[in-house]
Amino acid sequence: MNPLRKTIVAGLATSLLLSPFLIYKERKSYQCSDCLSKKHVYQWYAGVWPEFAIPVSFQRTIEEKSRTLRDFAPVNHTHDWIFAQGSPYIWFGTSWAGCAIGRRGSMNDFAQRYEGSDNFREFIRRKQREGLDSKTVYQMLILPRTLKDNQMNDSKLLGYTKRSNELSEEYQHWNDLNAQ
Ligand SMILES: [Zn+2]
Repeated sequence: MNPLRKTIVAGLATSLLLSPFLIYKERKSYQCSDCLSKKHVYQWYAGVWPEFAIPVSFQRTIEEKSRTLRDFAPVNHTHDWIFAQGSPYIWFGTSWAGCAIGRRGSMNDFAQRYEGSDNFREFIRRKQREGLDSKTVYQMLILPRTLKDNQMNDSKLLGYTKRSNELSEEYQHWNDLNAQ
């Protein structure tokens, strides 16, 4: 083999050996701060995450519509996507290899219950029949997980926080009674 050919063969062999690490799929996740829906953007890259990489595929986007969006967000709602997390997957997209964290999901406990529990949604629907205003429910769902310093004096936010805590407590009792 002449030296040039040797170099090329060695180069190809090295890239082949390293390809599980140098070709990776990245997932970037976002959450809408106004309806809690999620969006995942997938794209293949060649390079070393996160310093150097070239996209080698188109983006594929998958949207997960939240209950909050379906049940309470206004019809003309436009998403406000906030970066939550990004992860590369090496070994041809099968193996998780670290992550870059944005604001993560910032769902409050009330919203986590609403998104995750049929029972809780039933309880809220019952409260709505008894007069709980759907605008109020929506505001409670999109409350930040923790209030920032400058939000601590916002009487509206404090009111929604208090109301959502009361409802969560009432739900616990209601659930306990139903379970008996
Ligand atoms: Zn949205």
